[in-house]
Amino acid sequence: MIIELKPNLERHKAEELAKDLKAFLVTENNHFLLINSSSNKSLPEGMGQWAENTHVFEDDIQLASKKFLPTKREIILGNGVRIGGNTQNTLFISGPCSVESEAQIRQCAQACKELGIGILRGGCYKPRTSPYTFQGLGEEGLRLLKQMKEEFGLLIITEIRDATHADQVIEATDIIQIGAKSMYDHGILKKSGLSGKPVLLKRGFGTTLKEFVQMAEFILSLGNPNVMLCERGIRTFETKTRFTLDLCGVAWLQEYTNLPVVVDTSHAMGYAYGVPSLTRAAAAMGVDGLLIESHPNPKVALSDAAQQLSLEELKELYEKVGQVVEAVGFSIV
Ligand code: PEP
Ligand code: MN
Repeated sequence: MIIELKPNLERHKAEELAKDLKAFLVTENNHFLLINSSSNKSLPEGMGQWAENTHVFEDDIQLASKKFLPTKREIILGNGVRIGGNTQNTLFISGPCSVESEAQIRQCAQACKELGIGILRGGCYKPRTSPYTFQGLGEEGLRLLKQMKEEFGLLIITEIRDATHADQVIEATDIIQIGAKSMYDHGILKKSGLSGKPVLLKRGFGTTLKEFVQMAEFILSLGNPNVMLCERGIRTFETKTRFTLDLCGVAWLQEYTNLPVVVDTSHAMGYAYGVPSLTRAAAAMGVDGLLIESHPNPKVALSDAAQQLSLEELKELYEKVGQVVEAVGFSIV
């Protein structure tokens, strides 16, 4: 349940009430108290005098629910670009799976700059499935991303894999990526919530939509409304593709949540050949962002080699997808 407190109620009183109820206090214009939804269907005793309004939910999808806030939340990125809200903007994010070397990330940054892509991605701490494969450049990777940001005027997005480097990544990055394998990590969710920075939360490949959005609630309930939900494929019985892109899930997120939705077609497909057409399909849904992995020479990439587009393929995709984005009333940003 969300209890909207009376307008102009002083902060210290709101804090006192939150303490009494063991509630989260979130301030978005007014003060809101958040308590567990399954055991609270009516206003707790004594709260009548302080409450302006109450929102009752079936489950703990609360701040992210359209029932609470019927309009899509808007996020303003570090370069002033806006997504969500009424913007009808589709953010285009590209770059390699991993930052591998200065030469490699510079070529990617250059390609983004030339095409007009404003957000450069690149993992520095990689959540690999084998300990014997490339684990990322770590701090050196963060330094290179920052350098590209300065040289090319791009924003950067990179992933926090675990708590050991969360503070360094949060400091370095413009958008925090929380990966499919660490989306349940409460330390990462908490730090991301407290940071106030834009967060791209990826859906785990075995995660239901409800669990996914509830993880977003951990960030929202700590006062950070800047959350994007990223569909990146789920695991099904199918083995010919790496994962299955859940566009039904995207439609559900668009219908029932107020958070911008980003689609990562690279990880869903797992193979470069399918990425352009899947990206056009996702773009046709009027999504708030697209994430595509690209690499100067995918064949020698140190991670996710099969799915990354070459920079020439990226250019072709970028030009073609713009037509689809525009056909559904959106603009690429
Ligand atoms: C990535 O973006 O390179 C990545 C590891 O993605 P995911 O968390 O979706 O697997
Ligand atoms: Mn990857």
